[in-house]
Amino acid sequence: MKLGFEETQAAYSSGSQNARVWTERWVKDQLFCPNCGHAKIIQFPANRPVADFFCSSCEEEFELKSQKTAFRAKVVDGAFRTMCERLAASNNPNLVLINYDLAQLSVKNALIVPKHFFVREIVQERKPLAESARRAGWIGCNILLGQIPQAGKIFIVRDGQPQPKELVLAEWKRTLFLRRQNLEGRGWLVEVMRCVESIGKTEFDLDDLYTFEQHLSKLYPNNQNVRPKIRQKLQELRDHGFLDFVSRGRYRLRERL
Ligand SMILES: [Zn+2]
Repeated sequence: MKLGFEETQAAYSSGSQNARVWTERWVKDQLFCPNCGHAKIIQFPANRPVADFFCSSCEEEFELKSQKTAFRAKVVDGAFRTMCERLAASNNPNLVLINYDLAQLSVKNALIVPKHFFVREIVQERKPLAESARRAGWIGCNILLGQIPQAGKIFIVRDGQPQPKELVLAEWKRTLFLRRQNLEGRGWLVEVMRCVESIGKTEFDLDDLYTFEQHLSKLYPNNQNVRPKIRQKLQELRDHGFLDFVSRGRYRLRERL
């Protein structure tokens, strides 16, 4: 995998517009499909409402966002309502995030957030645009990248290092079970995954998870039985091979490869 951009003559006066063209070209030339391993993904004709690329082999769709600075806790995305509708749609695209280096004209980080990590909890409604704005009243959204578990951020290039393709494909497969859940069940699983990760230990106890009880009650105010729900979700994560039960009330995260 080459990280440098091809044909970097500046067609636009804006740096970000040029970078858009360069990163699109890079995705087209260098990116394989993380779902089926197909060597290339294809660019949609311009002006599609959401997706930018698709895989001709498995039909998975991808949206590209690129920026100069490293991605932080929030990524600004399009219309809030469109995003909420997308969550339930089967052709919701996966999100490809590229962080590039303008001095080197190359890709620094490229990661994919699989679409099954897109749950209501990670979409934040922004304030409507002011009356004075051209699109007054329009409501955009943020993707709360910080709320997505590490398992949902699959690096293809990390700090200028391309990651092995087998690793990317394995990481992708590891959480595909989320696609078989409904939106609410998926939200809970993603949230419990994130709690498990933030314990920061490979082996942990149920009590470690119960420290998130308040946090989860706040997130799901209609649920009066957070503890049983946590146990249920841990069981599901075990059934899908994400973690193992060691002994009563004790769990171990499954190795990534
Ligand atoms: Zn594919």
